Amino acid sequence: MGAGHDHAGGYSEMEARARALETLLYERGLLTPAAVDAVVREYETDVGPLNGARVVARAWVDDAYRQRLLEDGTAAMRELGYGGAEGYHLRALANTAGIHNVVVCTLCSCYPWPLLGLPPSWYKSPPYRSRVVADPRGVLAEFGLHLADETEVRVWDSSAEIRYLVLPQRPAGTTELDEQELADLVTRDSMIGTGLPLSPEGVRE
Ligand code: FE
Repeated sequence: MGAGHDHAGGYSEMEARARALETLLYERGLLTPAAVDAVVREYETDVGPLNGARVVARAWVDDAYRQRLLEDGTAAMRELGYGGAEGYHLRALANTAGIHNVVVCTLCSCYPWPLLGLPPSWYKSPPYRSRVVADPRGVLAEFGLHLADETEVRVWDSSAEIRYLVLPQRPAGTTELDEQELADLVTRDSMIGTGLPLSPEGVRE
């Protein structure tokens, strides 16, 4: 599979289980390697943070949509045509002046695939998964995100039942921008909570 896995010591228990299951499904004729490859390719190339960025930008320009997104993330995501695997129970978390949300999956790597694509390798890494819970400010600082002391940091642990999307604050100086230009400011990490959206000046440079 991809980079970022430690193959030197063999497979992790989860990888070993996934491979065993995959092998069994092939042997029984229930699945073909081509079908698995097609799904992985789709999530690597066609589905990605661009989808989440459209959701965030819509919420920034449309208060009623923002309200619907915060009340029922799954339904609001479907309104824009996004859904499917790993996207059944989406909850959006709004950052405010005093609250910053950050998402993790302490058990494995649960992640809102329909909106963000496949998770980055650091999201799946044991150090991120344990340290962001114990020391969120320290981890965010390592991402270059230095929050004000008075900002409350909330860490949300994803699971098979619920996936989270951070709704970042709309950057200052963006009143002139249209929805597509706003979406261009929304980074993947800003929707995980390990970053902030770009500033409009940053994009023009
Ligand atoms: Fe998980």
